[in-house]
Amino acid sequence: MKIILRLIRYIFRYKWALFVSIILGTIGSLLSVFNIFAFKPVLEVIFTPAGKAQIAPAYNLPSVSTTKEGKEKTFKIPLFREIEERFKPYRKALDARIEEITAWAITHKMKAMYIIGIIVAITGLIKGLVTYLSDYLMAYTGMSIVKDLRQEIHEHILRMDLPFFEDRSTGQLLARSSNDVSTMNTAITSVMDVGIQSPISIIMILILLYYLSPRLTLYSIFIVPVVGILIGVFGKKIRKISKKAQETIEDVMDVMQETYDGIRVVKAFGMEEFESLRFLKANIRAYKTYLHRQAIRKIFSPLMEFLGILAAISALFAGAHLILTEGTLTGADFFVFIIALSRLYRPIKDLSHIHLEVQTGLAGAERVFEILDTSRVLEEKPDATHLTSIREGISFHNVSFRYNNNSQYALRNITVDIPRGNVTAIVGRSGAGKTTFVNILCRFYDPSEGAILVDNHDLRDYSLKSLREKIAIVTQQVILFNETVRNNIAYGRKDIPLEAVIEAAKKAYAHEFIEKLPDGYDTQIGQHGDKISGGERQRLAIARAILKNPELLVFDEATSALDSEAETKIQQAMKNLIHGRTTIIIAHRLSTVKMASEIIVLDEGQVVERGSHDDLLRLDGHYARLSRLQGIFVDSQPSS
Ligand code: ADP
Repeated sequence: MKIILRLIRYIFRYKWALFVSIILGTIGSLLSVFNIFAFKPVLEVIFTPAGKAQIAPAYNLPSVSTTKEGKEKTFKIPLFREIEERFKPYRKALDARIEEITAWAITHKMKAMYIIGIIVAITGLIKGLVTYLSDYLMAYTGMSIVKDLRQEIHEHILRMDLPFFEDRSTGQLLARSSNDVSTMNTAITSVMDVGIQSPISIIMILILLYYLSPRLTLYSIFIVPVVGILIGVFGKKIRKISKKAQETIEDVMDVMQETYDGIRVVKAFGMEEFESLRFLKANIRAYKTYLHRQAIRKIFSPLMEFLGILAAISALFAGAHLILTEGTLTGADFFVFIIALSRLYRPIKDLSHIHLEVQTGLAGAERVFEILDTSRVLEEKPDATHLTSIREGISFHNVSFRYNNNSQYALRNITVDIPRGNVTAIVGRSGAGKTTFVNILCRFYDPSEGAILVDNHDLRDYSLKSLREKIAIVTQQVILFNETVRNNIAYGRKDIPLEAVIEAAKKAYAHEFIEKLPDGYDTQIGQHGDKISGGERQRLAIARAILKNPELLVFDEATSALDSEAETKIQQAMKNLIHGRTTIIIAHRLSTVKMASEIIVLDEGQVVERGSHDDLLRLDGHYARLSRLQGIFVDSQPSS
């Protein structure tokens, strides 16, 4: 119920479209009922001899259609009797009016037929038009809600902190924001489309049925409660199994995403078959659950159809009884009644199907809302100030950090100063805590103990936005987007002129290779930048950082085996980037370390040595040992 209320809140944003749609839908249903009703005078006109009508006065035609007047038995059940009493005056007025028209029609048979024909055609046309408009507005509302939800879930996920992403697979997030939202889409649009329209039609037709014969109506709609019970039972089952089905799709997407992302490794290890089997397992599981869901859904239609047949038979028997035995119903009324009754089947069927659709959608909604309700953001102080500039520098005060309460400390009691404008290199074995050091400096995580100070103020006192504006990170895994080279360098900033982009590319020693690309700066570089080499990707990332012009530069130096020319170019590009900025380099190469004014050596999360290259060599400790490894520091694999 809570979920439905939440969905209604979204629907409410489009209340006007919905309102107009309902009004138009009601008009459409009214016209459709009117069209059925138009058969009544037609039948009367055809089956009543003209002479008879002329004998009887227009307002009193007992022989034509008022046989039920006075003779219709009253209901025994008080509620129905009460309803009957309430409606009697209206029914009488309508009867009288229709009889007048019918009497006129009987005396002017052909003319009446033409008029009725024209009226039916015109109302049919108008009905089509208003129904179309109503359907369109419903679809508009439904789709708009889904668009809003998709946007909201994406924005919400974007705001989450890194641990949120570590706890969830990309496949899971994708499944929620695409698959689950689309099941909601189907549910919402069908509710909007048929869910509102059908009840209106049902009510209209029921009124018509009731007008034609209250008792026959009662005999024919006895199946409604049975349908209600069936819908309830099936709906619950469908919702449960839908949730399971969505989960299985999540697994399918997970395997897909992992395989495609790691396609190089898959191929290099010849693991295609293994991956194929892994996928098959997930795929079969999804297939089975979906099939199960369909098996349950599909029982519903034949069941409904059978109930419809029972209702029709019951109406026929009851009708025959009322006409032949009691004489309380005319043949024309009965005929129109049967037509109207047959029109009742479709909206009831649609409505019951929608219920199943809604249950599927609600299962999706539950999963979507679960993500929307997960609030995992780094707390920002309400009075967080804007960091205008880093004037003095950054210092770590007794900083310890662990990724979660059960894990080991990744950093222990770190106390270091990073003065403004200095280049600080961080070196250490793989797993020493270098990436973690940078992660907490950029405030991807907060320290478990201790504090990081910027100009003697806690990092947590500043707004995240202002902090991140001052930082640029060049990582080992260069993140490029399936966009043009120019847009990749400018990354989202449309206001930057091409000249500035070229200038940055030149400083990053990237201009030369960019110019050689088929469309220069307008070349699309493919997802993950697959169309350019590793060294080139790195230089694009440097160009992006140069363009951002950050105060604090974090450089996770690439370790991938670059040829010496590429390496020299990257070195030169780095020098251009580093110049005059506070820089922290996770260094893997001796040449890079030499650029640093201070080197911090980390081991098992602790600072074990600090100083210049020469000092540390003289010390003949960790650093000296590391540098003896051909001047290349340990990590040959990306550490993050
Ligand atoms: P380095 O960059 O020096 O290779 P890291 O900073 O990546 O080292 O890792 C330091 C320690 O923290 C390692 O023991 C690693 O297993 C652990 N670690 C790194 N990232 C996470 C994470 N997201 N969750 C839990 N533990 C982590």
